[in-house]
Amino acid sequence: MTKRIIIVGGGYVGVQLAKALDGKAEVTLIEPRSHFVHAPAMIRSVVDPQVLDQGLIPYDDLLKNGQVMRARAKSINAAGVTLEDGTEVLGDYIVVATGSDNAMPFKPATDSIKAFRADSARINAMLEAAQSVAIVGAGAVGTELAGEIAHFMPDKKVTLISSEPSLFPTMPSKLGTALQGKLNDAGVTTIFGARAENLESLTEPYAGELQLSNGDRIAADLIFPAIGSRAVSSILETLPGITKGAANRVKTDPWLRPSDLPNVFAAGDVAEAGDAMTIVAVSRQTPWLEKMLTSLIDGKKVEDVAKYKPWDKAPFLVPLGPQKGNSYLVLFTAGDKITRLMKGKDLFVTKYRKMLNRT
Ligand SMILES: Cc1cc2nc3c(=O)[nH]c(=O)nc-3n(C[C@H](O)[C@H](O)[C@H](O)COP(=O)(O)OP(=O)(O)OC[C@H]3O[C@@H](n4cnc5c(N)ncnc54)[C@H](O)[C@@H]3O)c2cc1C
Repeated sequence: MTKRIIIVGGGYVGVQLAKALDGKAEVTLIEPRSHFVHAPAMIRSVVDPQVLDQGLIPYDDLLKNGQVMRARAKSINAAGVTLEDGTEVLGDYIVVATGSDNAMPFKPATDSIKAFRADSARINAMLEAAQSVAIVGAGAVGTELAGEIAHFMPDKKVTLISSEPSLFPTMPSKLGTALQGKLNDAGVTTIFGARAENLESLTEPYAGELQLSNGDRIAADLIFPAIGSRAVSSILETLPGITKGAANRVKTDPWLRPSDLPNVFAAGDVAEAGDAMTIVAVSRQTPWLEKMLTSLIDGKKVEDVAKYKPWDKAPFLVPLGPQKGNSYLVLFTAGDKITRLMKGKDLFVTKYRKMLNRT
């Protein structure tokens, strides 16, 4: 009998896995939003609203055989998934890929894409009117945002604030040094080793004055909180044997199982499997999941499949607008040209539109 696979969450894991298994099994992808949200494009959308349309991709054409169910999962058990309206969806295997939340306008605040478009337009108008911008948090999102504003809106006074001693201190120092030099050359002020002590919102930009732990006060027409993602793990929390890790993630065993239920798997940002919360991590986990689930469909047991091995050193690409940037590509650190060609120019928009069968 054809196996039924339920995937909860239509982010990077959900879309890629559903497409890969469509036809091999009866696939149901449960996702409350009408459109896939392509995260890297959301940063440039802040300065160029046209990019938003390209980065919001409808799910309508994703699957040929299976279905995308427009719904929010409320709970799961070994037999399947219960939706918020009480409907039970039955399955043989369940993959939870509910991802993570981030501040607006980097990720939507609700399931409504219409509301997200309105929020993005509002924040874009606030940015247009602002003369000074402060970005709190210099991870990839904060750093890229500083680069995008410096490139597209060079008249704005941009300050990037980090509690870390330097940019990307866990990566080879060449990467952070090169990126900092380019940001400073573009007019961005960088402040390290200072924590914002009075952030008024963790979820959306606002106008105000920051009190920093080094004693500085920074007034800005727009303050963007960019302090990282937090996993959306509530539907896993009631399962037996769950252990929470950092950033609300749920720990998995070497076969990406988060609980004592042998047929429930978790991947992507929600799963602490030894990888960072990145699309790069998903690009390694999803082919493994596809292979493992195909083996189960063929009658093998989970333990017969080789364990998942997380990235030892993962590549990391940081564009500063469409022209500049630096990338850690494991064997070497690349500069503007390679970063532009690999990411900065297109931000993988073409790749993900193709994945969702849109041009
Ligand atoms: C602005 C930004 C830029 C980024 N850029 C990069 C980059 O350039 N490179 C990189 O490697 N990483 C990048 N990342 C990280 C990357 O976006 C995440 O690692 C990635 O989105 C994780 O994919 P996922 O499938 O685990 O979850 P997500 O993409 O977060 O998707 C989760 C999905 O689950 C759905 N969902 C949640 N709860 C439920 C529920 N109860 N029922 C049904 N569905 C549910 C959500 O609606 C969502 O569609 C970026 C992140 C941000 C915020």
